[in-house]
Amino acid sequence: MTQMTPPASGAPAGSAGSARIAAAVRQAVADGILGEEQPVVGFVDTDGVRESVAALRDAFPVMPGTLHCFAAKAASLIPVLRLLADCGMGCEVASPGELRLALDAGFAPADIVLDSPAKTREEIGLALTLGVAVNADSFDELRRIDGLRTPGSASVLGIRVNPQVGSGSIGEMSTATATSKFGVALRDEGAREAVVRAFAARPWLTRLHAHVGSQGCSLELIARGVAETYELAEEINGSLRRQQVTSIDIGGGLPVNFTDDTVRPSYAAYVAALREAVPGLFDGRYALVTEFGRSLLAKNGFIGALVEYTKDAGGRRIALTHAGAHTATRTVFMPDAWPLRVGAFDAQGRPGTGPLMVQDIAGPCCFAGDVLAHGRELPELREGDFVVLYDTGAYYFSTPWAYNSLPRPAVYGFSHGTDGERVRFAPVRDAQSLDSIAAESGLAHADALTGPGATAI
Ligand SMILES: *Cc1c(COP(=O)(O)O)cnc(C)c1O
Repeated sequence: MTQMTPPASGAPAGSAGSARIAAAVRQAVADGILGEEQPVVGFVDTDGVRESVAALRDAFPVMPGTLHCFAAKAASLIPVLRLLADCGMGCEVASPGELRLALDAGFAPADIVLDSPAKTREEIGLALTLGVAVNADSFDELRRIDGLRTPGSASVLGIRVNPQVGSGSIGEMSTATATSKFGVALRDEGAREAVVRAFAARPWLTRLHAHVGSQGCSLELIARGVAETYELAEEINGSLRRQQVTSIDIGGGLPVNFTDDTVRPSYAAYVAALREAVPGLFDGRYALVTEFGRSLLAKNGFIGALVEYTKDAGGRRIALTHAGAHTATRTVFMPDAWPLRVGAFDAQGRPGTGPLMVQDIAGPCCFAGDVLAHGRELPELREGDFVVLYDTGAYYFSTPWAYNSLPRPAVYGFSHGTDGERVRFAPVRDAQSLDSIAAESGLAHADALTGPGATAI
């Protein structure tokens, strides 16, 4: 199912990313941010985020109307979104909750794009009132927009197409397969003509959108999907004899290397692949929208977790940590598709140096499969040590799962400052309190099934 090579074991050696993380772990343990009181914490490297945004901007040519959006689902934390807004990014959202976060983070409505395959009338109405861009996922949704749109709405409106160029290495992450639930399936009989007719009937429809997949898709596959979308834009404008399609939203999906510190493929490599596959994309006739998530944040975040106990079972050493399926859901349930590098650190937060030993790194959840890494060779972990899960800045601690009523872990941003001497931390999200867990578990309705009112049911 996946061609991903297994990650190198042990704490990765030497490179800039690892050195920064090692300094942050050391300081977080010294400051008491990571330890017995907070046994699992997510961290965001704010300098790294700024550098990644700069790399994205540098790779793409400067063209009028270009809008680089961050896909909110990759790191749905208001301070992180505000950092990205501060870097000049827009925001791609896919639910009422994400739209709310984007607005609270300070994105201007004109810099927000609403995608999702199941928008309600209310969501569409709000987006149109605010002037948020909307990409319709289907002709039915386009008909809803027809009914809700008022003339003069500031929203840029588009339609998502599925170029059906095929699957990457992780089927669950591939959105351009023949039977994907996303967009208008372009190669289905009559679909292309129907898209052209939809534009002909709606002069306000000006954008085409495609997002080929997230992780596991090669640059060539993504570029082919963009090429198909571009060809369709040319076909629409050609047959209508006017430039009605004025922008192309090419989605996100640049894969992330989870096996070591190097950033590959780079945004520059992606742009080179696009230039090769779709030369006309950069000639200035179309404004470009991008929606990257994982590639901007994954390598700029990590999870630190305390080793609560160790034990031996059936000849295997197991480290029981506080990072489990609630913070690394995909890795626990699909370990072959989503392997993570794990680093071993001592009780002072220094990289482990002891002899290597084969160990399982397990989490606190009460089901047997809650193991983050199986049979990994790492310096021997002991009670009070720490593990680091690398490359978890996107879709991990920001996307927790409430299993076992485990709290959402605290998240901190960190920076090395201009002097590069001392790592400084800023709280991004507090750890969830027990009161909050009780409230989210129906405390306000505690008597609903047993009290006097319960006779009603
Ligand atoms: C998830 C998603 C993205 C971001 O994907 P990444 O792989 O994180 O870059 C962009 N656009 C849409 C429509 C998405 O669903």
